[in-house]
Amino acid sequence: EAGRLAESMNHQVFAVGGFVRDLLLRRDVLDMDLVVEGDGIAFARALAKKLGGRVRAHKKFRTAVIVYTPPGEGENGLPPEEQKVDVATARLEYYEYPAALPTVELSSIKMDLFRRDFTINALAVQLNPEDFGRLVDFFGAQRDIKERVIRVLHSLSFVEDPTRILRAIRFEQRFHFRIGKQTTRLIKNAIQLKLVDRLSGARLFNELKLMLREKDFLLDLLRMEEFDVLKAIYPAFSMNQRVEKLLREIEKVLNWYALLYEPTAPRQWLLVLMGLTERFPDEDARGVATRLAIPPRERREFLNLRSLCVETLDRLNTWKYADGSRSGLYFILESLPLEGILFIMARTGDEDLRKHISLHLTKLSHEALEITGEDLIAMGLQPGPDFGKILREVLAAKLDGQAPTLLAELGYAER
Ligand code: ATP
Repeated sequence: EAGRLAESMNHQVFAVGGFVRDLLLRRDVLDMDLVVEGDGIAFARALAKKLGGRVRAHKKFRTAVIVYTPPGEGENGLPPEEQKVDVATARLEYYEYPAALPTVELSSIKMDLFRRDFTINALAVQLNPEDFGRLVDFFGAQRDIKERVIRVLHSLSFVEDPTRILRAIRFEQRFHFRIGKQTTRLIKNAIQLKLVDRLSGARLFNELKLMLREKDFLLDLLRMEEFDVLKAIYPAFSMNQRVEKLLREIEKVLNWYALLYEPTAPRQWLLVLMGLTERFPDEDARGVATRLAIPPRERREFLNLRSLCVETLDRLNTWKYADGSRSGLYFILESLPLEGILFIMARTGDEDLRKHISLHLTKLSHEALEITGEDLIAMGLQPGPDFGKILREVLAAKLDGQAPTLLAELGYAER
């Protein structure tokens, strides 16, 4: 579709970046990146019209995002998920070269690919009908994919953008590749030159978050430690034995939780950040949040969650010896965010307590949702000042398996 449209507009259009890489690696591809030699925004508008999608354009960068719903059915008969297509304009004239690089005349697609992070991401496939499927590989990307190496395109790559250090590690671990020899040297150099210090908190946080969301976040962090990148981000970060052990537990808990197929997914980055900072004094936790310029709401959540988890663990230990009822457990955990509950499961060494918390997540929290004020009204209770209290009593009785007795005492029969 894109190819035929480009043809009619007399533009060259290419699929680029992660999309092509994942295609060659035979991995699932999600979103697509297109580069147009011509007017990218006009092209995106025309393509969106054909696909029945919406366009968000950034005139300044001459880029656009198309969001559309593909026809047909998605998984399990659900409506298909929205797809995103990023459209960029390839242009020679606006690109600013770092001073030390040779200025050579390049075609605009070559120029576009040259600005990218690694060879494996600097591959394009032509989509115009007459050349459909032609691979455009100026920098040995196919060879590097075959040999499974991460290589930068030139020696100033990390100077140009130090977030690429994190990206190199992330792709290396995700694909089980190896960072190339020269690229390894360049990373070490960049660390020694303290280039990470120059990164804004927002960019650093953005890239770190992508890393902490990966399935292999633990391997990423260990590799970061090897390169001394963690300390470069914040000096108190360390993958010592204790932190590593806690993160392994967090990984286990996340895998366990994923198998429950619950509708709500935890924010993995937050959970991992909790693990990384577990032993930090509050001052350092605030320091991390400041260095990463974590936005105010998430910053508050992160800092509150830390103290909330400590308090909750205390309460749970008391509960275990002094109470032990299901309702007691439910009321301790009900207002703790999911990330906090999973963190405590990973953090406690108490196997019994872990089982109780798992009961809360898999059973009690669902049962609790089944009782609402409307049920009480249906039973003939009038909403009044004690209504909330009664609701909680009924809820407690239900969780503890005593609802019929309680309702009988109150003079109502359970429906
Ligand atoms: P993922 O599967 O993690 O989304 P991706 O390769 O699609 O991987 P994006 O972050 O979406 O990653 O970036 C899309 C493309 O943009 C990359 O393939 C790469 O070519 C380019 N790119 C992204 N970030 C940088 C960067 N910091 N420096 C240079 N090129 C970059």
